Amino acid sequence: MNFFDPVLQLEVIVALALLALLSLKFRVLDWKGVLTAIPVGYVILVFGDLRYFVILLVFYAVSGLATKVRVRKVGKGFSEKDWVRSWRNVLANGLIPTLVIIFAALSNRSGSNMMTAGYLGGIGTAFADTLATEIGLLYPRDPRLITSFKRVERGRPGAVSPYGYAGGLLAVIVLCGSAYLLGFGDVRVLLAASFSAMLGMTFDSFLGATIQAKYRCVVCGKITESRIHCGEKAEKVSGLETVNTHVVNLIAILAGSLISIALMI
Ligand SMILES: [Zn+2]
Repeated sequence: MNFFDPVLQLEVIVALALLALLSLKFRVLDWKGVLTAIPVGYVILVFGDLRYFVILLVFYAVSGLATKVRVRKVGKGFSEKDWVRSWRNVLANGLIPTLVIIFAALSNRSGSNMMTAGYLGGIGTAFADTLATEIGLLYPRDPRLITSFKRVERGRPGAVSPYGYAGGLLAVIVLCGSAYLLGFGDVRVLLAASFSAMLGMTFDSFLGATIQAKYRCVVCGKITESRIHCGEKAEKVSGLETVNTHVVNLIAILAGSLISIALMI
């Protein structure tokens, strides 16, 4: 896209304004989430192109829908990223893919297979992790902790289940299918992104089980990633205070993106 074309700039602004209104109307994002998403969308549209933006939209639309379905089936209160997503979610999921686009533009690699792989690997990790969480919560039995394989209650950071992995796989299929339809037909790029997304999602669970801060609710006794549960301040039981779910997502997405880029070298 030509940065100095006023017509294209206007189109970008109108498209983002429309999306902002839709996100608020359908309560996918709150106000701060929208204000964070606008610069992310702008950078991707101006320094990448419409196809990269559509990939991000597919991720937002499908994960927003998955969250609403899960809330209807099993209720809220399982994770901090519940119900309406805020700026922390947007930044945790959008920062790395946006940086991939910026670095590619700065190094004259815009639109290269390497940039696409890094972008899809990052978004793929975020997408796989989100659907794994949402679909994993529908698993009728207790999931297992990725480090010890002991059964733990649903919603515990680092808990994995067959439903979760099926969710991750579904995200990868939707992502690669959309990418293919948008003209990202290079098989090597799609394979690199798929593999990295599944690995990134697994790394996310591992970080969740180890360094992520976990709290015990003083009311219901549940181990949760939320600082506040049942309306009361929960007590920390393990992990690092500064490492919340968003920090874990950010690290895992960085890993997914870098692995995907490395596979293209
Ligand atoms: Zn509680």
